[in-house]
Amino acid sequence: MKRIPRVDLPEGLHPDTLAVREGLPRTPWGENSEALFLTSSFVQPDAATAAARFANEEEAFTYSRFTNPTVMMFERRLAALEGTEAAIATASGMSAILLLGLALLKAGDHVVCSQSVFGSTLVLFGREFAKFGVEVTFVPQTDAAAWRAAVKPNTKLLFAESPTNPLTEICDIRALADIAHAAGALLAVDNCFCSPALQRPKEFGADLIVHSGTKYLDGQGRVLAGAVCGSESLINEKFVPVMRSAGISLSPFNAWVVLKGLETLSIRMEAQARRALELAAWLESQPQVERVYYPGLVSHPQHELAMAQQNGSGGAVVSFVVRGAADGGAPAARKNAFHVIDSTRVCSITANLGDTKTTITHPASTSHGRLTEDQRQAAGIVQGLIRVAVGLEDVRDLKADLQRGLDTLTP
Ligand SMILES: *Cc1c(COP(=O)(O)O)cnc(C)c1O
Repeated sequence: MKRIPRVDLPEGLHPDTLAVREGLPRTPWGENSEALFLTSSFVQPDAATAAARFANEEEAFTYSRFTNPTVMMFERRLAALEGTEAAIATASGMSAILLLGLALLKAGDHVVCSQSVFGSTLVLFGREFAKFGVEVTFVPQTDAAAWRAAVKPNTKLLFAESPTNPLTEICDIRALADIAHAAGALLAVDNCFCSPALQRPKEFGADLIVHSGTKYLDGQGRVLAGAVCGSESLINEKFVPVMRSAGISLSPFNAWVVLKGLETLSIRMEAQARRALELAAWLESQPQVERVYYPGLVSHPQHELAMAQQNGSGGAVVSFVVRGAADGGAPAARKNAFHVIDSTRVCSITANLGDTKTTITHPASTSHGRLTEDQRQAAGIVQGLIRVAVGLEDVRDLKADLQRGLDTLTP
């Protein structure tokens, strides 16, 4: 919908300015905060105009399944932050990935996907798309040669996520983009963990950027939302027509919440990442902690790549492994992890992330609970692993919250 006017702004504004200013022009009432258009449809001036608009001969708002001013505000603002020409909003992060598949793939096509992507993404690609004849090869996240070797003549899409949940593995976006483009395929990157405040995959050659707006974009754990960002031609020609018939649309109310969330995204990410780095360094010095996974630490295997790709930041998710009770094996390690989690009184025990409230979770029994113990071991999701998505609390209080359990572990 590029003929619907943009808000009138000077050229060359920086992301922090676009995060609060990009969108549609004000209504005639002159509201300073963006209007919330809670309306399912839009009144047309006459039947002939309605016909032209429904036939796509004239761009205007018609029906909120595919056009709504508040949703478009969010799409334009997110696209500006990602540095893409366009974006399309969806009801959730998973529906953004569903839309990606519906828009780009058909029976007989092949996808190469990281084996460490979000659990529901694994199921969507590996099980649901398989029903429609789409074939998927899962490859190790950090091994570019394995991605290259998996490409086939019918490969249409490479799908990555970086950093991954919960082990914060980093893929080399530039290398994957080169592999995709050499094969005539597209690279899509799930940018949920960093958000455009820290990482803009388009700058490294990604064609499409997928978001769960539920996480840092909202930033306060209120609504589900999602989006796909990309070129004007891909979004308008491939994605909008599918949205019109598939209806996995973002509600205007949720769009408004996430739109307002974008205004504080960069200062939240910066503040949460600063706390996460301090907490990760502190955890690394604790005798009861076996290993810490955080891209901002020099000990992280892809530290340098992460710093180059993520604007010098490790993000706000820290995972760590507590020591198991001596020789007690997996059950003892699990007991110790549960003890640390249950000893917290500030952190929320919940699997969501990207909230201003710090969340703590035990991946092996929640997000990765459906895997077998062998699969979990292979993926590095051990029973002693704890994930903390750091929020905006004072980091001294977060350390004390974790210290309480670490200090009283069974030796
Ligand atoms: C949460 C999440 C999703 C799914 O988003 P929903 O909004 O919950 O549907 C996709 N990818 C990643 C990396 C996520 O963390």
